[in-house]
Amino acid sequence: MYSSLSAKAIFARLFIALAISYLLGLLFGVAFMVVAFTAIALLVWHYHHLVKLMTWLWVSKSLSPPTANGLWGRIYDGLYRIIRKHRLKQKRLNDKVRQFRDGAEALPDAALVLSSDLTIQWGNKKAQRILGVRWPGDVGQRIDNLIRFPEFARYIEEGNFELPCHIPSPINTELMIELRLIAYGADQVLFLARDISKIHRLEEMRRDFVANVSHELKTPLTVMRGYVEMVQMTESSLDPYWQKAFSTMETQVSRMDRLVEQLLILSRVEVSTEEEEKQLVDMPKLISALIEDAKWLNQEKSHILTSEIDNALAIEGIDNELKSACSNLISNAIAYTPAGGNIHVSWGKEGNKAKFSVKDDGPGIRPEHVNRITERFFRVDKSRSRNTGGSGLGLAIVKHVLNHHHAELAINSQWGKGSEFIIYFEPKCIRFIDN
Ligand code: ADP
Repeated sequence: MYSSLSAKAIFARLFIALAISYLLGLLFGVAFMVVAFTAIALLVWHYHHLVKLMTWLWVSKSLSPPTANGLWGRIYDGLYRIIRKHRLKQKRLNDKVRQFRDGAEALPDAALVLSSDLTIQWGNKKAQRILGVRWPGDVGQRIDNLIRFPEFARYIEEGNFELPCHIPSPINTELMIELRLIAYGADQVLFLARDISKIHRLEEMRRDFVANVSHELKTPLTVMRGYVEMVQMTESSLDPYWQKAFSTMETQVSRMDRLVEQLLILSRVEVSTEEEEKQLVDMPKLISALIEDAKWLNQEKSHILTSEIDNALAIEGIDNELKSACSNLISNAIAYTPAGGNIHVSWGKEGNKAKFSVKDDGPGIRPEHVNRITERFFRVDKSRSRNTGGSGLGLAIVKHVLNHHHAELAINSQWGKGSEFIIYFEPKCIRFIDN
């Protein structure tokens, strides 16, 4: 194995060769001729190797360079070393790529590697089966050219990839898939899709079951309530024992009625889609009407109910859903704030968002409960909630409604001091009313 030669050594060798030929030439009295001959021989030798090198670089298919002795041997050896180093690097890289591909193929999900402009770079076999991506035909295609559902277009446009997106499979609409986009590296995006048809079907069955049972319960409840009210009104001579029994029956039937009503609203809100019947919702009018109702409801507890409403600010949304959400927040404040307390309802702009707020100086909510109170049937104090006629579904309805309206719920509460429930609407939902 040769090692490299310094410029000094190369010139020293040339000098020695020429000096020896000069001395040899002196012996025969033809010094310059011998020197010239040596120089020409050296030039021919170098040209010979230049041709060899050129042929190897451009013509030969061999990966190993030609062999030679001396200076050219060192040059060929250097080239061979570089080639070996590159081959080793490439082998390592290939191994890494193979490992990544094997890993991606072993995934139970469909996986696509996208570049930052969402064009397809690579995909596993599952992606071909679930998403219908053709390999390599679809390389360089934008993913939203292949998946053409409005929900997906909106998901990409909004760019909030923390939550997944649920859409039917582009090649089989019977299949429901969950998509996730995960940015990684400098400018790459991992696109994962998994089949959630079974979960989706179960979820649908659960929703249908709840909606059907609630619906079926409505008629018997109405009949029971009618009879109880009739007996209470007509039988004035009932003894106190039965009076109490009928009064309790009436309270419990009303509770069940409210629960069934809330379950029906929740089922309706859950199945409705975002595009459904969106229209200009006159929020000032809607909120004012709710406040009027609240005043009537509030007579017994005589809270101090104040309000501040921006009369020009409207929302593009679903009227009855927004009414349901705002009414739940107002009726909660009335239900949980002790008699004589303060409740303030406001509607206006904050920054570039629209803000609906209901603030009370009631009991407040402990920090550990704040994150859980929007769960279905979650009630901080079951007995108190039962007394107020609470079903534990009010805030779950609010949360679902807000999902359809690009809105968020914020809860500021201090235990023992009061709570503020705020709905923030994104600027794109805001509209203005000409007064
Ligand atoms: P409910 O029908 O029981 O009121 P919600 O989902 O509307 O159900 O509320 C869930 C729980 O959150 C309630 O049980 C109550 O403990 C708490 N909560 C809601 N609003 C308030 C409020 N303004 N002040 C104190 N606690 C509240």
